[in-house]
Amino acid sequence: MSFRLIKTEKNTKARLGELTTPHGVVKTPVFIISLLIIMKFMDVPLAADPIVNWGNYEVKVRDGVIDKASAKAELPVIINDLQQICGKYDFSEHQAWIFPLKGYGLTSIATKGSDFQPDIVYGVSPIKGYNFFDGNKHGGHPAHDIFIRDKDQNNLDDQTRQPVAALAMVDSIVLSTFTNWQKGSKLRGGNYIWLYNPKLDVFFYYAHLDKVLVTSGDLVKAGTVIGTVGRSGLLANMKSSPTHIHLMVLKYENGILKPYEYYEELIHE
Ligand SMILES: [Zn+2]
Repeated sequence: MSFRLIKTEKNTKARLGELTTPHGVVKTPVFIISLLIIMKFMDVPLAADPIVNWGNYEVKVRDGVIDKASAKAELPVIINDLQQICGKYDFSEHQAWIFPLKGYGLTSIATKGSDFQPDIVYGVSPIKGYNFFDGNKHGGHPAHDIFIRDKDQNNLDDQTRQPVAALAMVDSIVLSTFTNWQKGSKLRGGNYIWLYNPKLDVFFYYAHLDKVLVTSGDLVKAGTVIGTVGRSGLLANMKSSPTHIHLMVLKYENGILKPYEYYEELIHE
């Protein structure tokens, strides 16, 4: 009995700070630093994090600093890598979607979801209609705008006097966020969040947020509060714009990210 105890203690210690090698016990930090130096010397590329890759990628597409052909070529690689790392998590495939604003329902979206018009002539893209690769200069309205009760435009619900929580609609992983929108910025989305569900192969983009309450790499269950509704974004910040979130869902199909009409997903008996 006492032998087993000592053995356990020894193993625990080894796991926490030391590695056993044929040459004896080596402190883990020393081992890792040595390994990194060897890898650098041998020019072995360090494995990049697929979530970091996505974050860099969406910003490049957003800001138009990557040409469309390259962006299109990179997308399947990025999504394949995301699928790989998500494989270790248990995402549900068949899940009822949750309404994305706490305390609100379908009546806060245009009747029958009529504002979902990916091909409408709207926006600043010379190519009308929505194309993900147009980034911040995209056309169309590939989303639903979900409005809150905020006559005085202070980001608080006029009845509860509280911020309105934005919720994850299905179990997802947080891919990237933007939290630093400033008045005067030309960025249309303002403070935003990208979520991903690998089973559905669907991306969720929540724009015009006030506060962002998650960070890339977080796993969020359906119904988790991820942020609060705000007025960030070039047009959303104008007086003429009632307070809302712009919520776009994109499905990965045939090498592109295609706008997905999710209104029906929000209708429950
Ligand atoms: Zn919108």
